[in-house]
Amino acid sequence: MRPVSSLPTRADVLVVGSGGAGLAAAWAASREGARTVLITKGSPASCNTGKAQGGIQAAIGGDDSPEQHAADVYRSSHDTADMELVSVLTGEAPEAIAWLEQLGVEFSREGDGYRLARCGGASTRRLLQVGDRTGHAIAHALRGALAAEGVEIHGHAALTAFAKPNGHFTATVDCEGQTATIAAGTVVLAAGGRCYAEASRRGVLTTNQPGATGEVAALARELGAAARDEDSLQHHPNGGAWPPPLQGYSIPETTRSYGALLVNGKGERFIDELAPRDTVAEAIVKECDEGRGLTTPDGRPAVLLDTTQIEAEVADQVLPYMMRRYRHAGIDPLTEPILTYPVLHYQNGGLVIDRDGRTTVEGLFAAGEITGGVHGRNRMMGNSLLDCTVFGRRAGRAAAADAR
Ligand SMILES: Cc1cc2nc3c(=O)[nH]c(=O)nc-3n(C[C@H](O)[C@H](O)[C@H](O)COP(=O)(O)OP(=O)(O)OC[C@H]3O[C@@H](n4cnc5c(N)ncnc54)[C@H](O)[C@@H]3O)c2cc1C
Repeated sequence: MRPVSSLPTRADVLVVGSGGAGLAAAWAASREGARTVLITKGSPASCNTGKAQGGIQAAIGGDDSPEQHAADVYRSSHDTADMELVSVLTGEAPEAIAWLEQLGVEFSREGDGYRLARCGGASTRRLLQVGDRTGHAIAHALRGALAAEGVEIHGHAALTAFAKPNGHFTATVDCEGQTATIAAGTVVLAAGGRCYAEASRRGVLTTNQPGATGEVAALARELGAAARDEDSLQHHPNGGAWPPPLQGYSIPETTRSYGALLVNGKGERFIDELAPRDTVAEAIVKECDEGRGLTTPDGRPAVLLDTTQIEAEVADQVLPYMMRRYRHAGIDPLTEPILTYPVLHYQNGGLVIDRDGRTTVEGLFAAGEITGGVHGRNRMMGNSLLDCTVFGRRAGRAAAADAR
């Protein structure tokens, strides 16, 4: 067990969570000269960011612009996203990609340029990918950058309470059964969403890792932080429904970008595969509810994702991880369609922030899935990794400035 005495007792900036948002925030805060401490509940690599497969959006194609990207976000959110945050998100996206490349992320290329895919709700091809392990590549690069910056990730250190008694924060941290306290000038909350806890409560499948339990957002609300759209949870349209090792697996949505079709039990297509996420998920549920779906061998509703439409060469390049997982489980998606059904995936809403990640509590910042507004009530695929990169850095920078 790690001795609790190894945890620093003071920080200018305390960052909570080692996913994309927390790593980016800690890097930026440290770069600004702040004494930065990063704590995280599980191991340093345990987060939803590392599980992200599909990709990250940025308007870098010749036929694209940040404004067009922003319009797609707003439309997909059904006009509920905060446009000030959206314009920051899409405006800084190309530079965020350049920064990730500087840190060593190698986006998949095609000819002279990037391999760009069109994702659900997008008006053009805008999704950059690192094969089908984009989140893993980004998290790995960010952990490397943080190590180079000299900031340690304190794993197995969970925030359990925090207060602001005299203008500064006092955080109570559980380190595998022992309690420690950290005094901090400012705090960046980057503890992700709550879909794992929500799925356990409802007895349904989720794509999320077990640390996605939402207690940090609850602590922030107790301290007075405002939240929005908290009731809005997103289903990934294509959860794995069969075989059992792949139940709850998030089949990359790039399967549909690269030609996979959704087919009901009668062999008919029933939806534009590249419609916004909630539209596709609702259409699958409707097919099943109205008796046009299929049933998995263990009695779950499902439809078919006809992945046999994907070219073998493309699958090798963009879906190697998914292909390996299915083939390992005895199914070759290039020769037979796979069974799919929506699964709980993402928390659309969360803490209210401004363009620098400031919550409504002075000195308290937030970034990533714990926040609300950037995606409104329906996030487009590929915009969460972008959200973590853009707003993580902004929150880290501003938290460092405010701590001085
Ligand atoms: C399977 C899957 C596939 C996805 N694919 C994509 C994709 O292709 N493109 C895309 O843009 N998005 C994708 N997403 C969504 C995206 O990955 C996440 O929304 C995003 O990475 C969240 O980042 P985050 O930093 O906010 O939170 P996370 O990455 O979840 O990190 C949260 C961190 O906080 C820690 N934590 C939680 N509670 C505490 C506590 N009490 N004390 C201390 N630490 C705590 C956790 O342990 C974790 O380290 C996917 C998500 C999943 C699950």
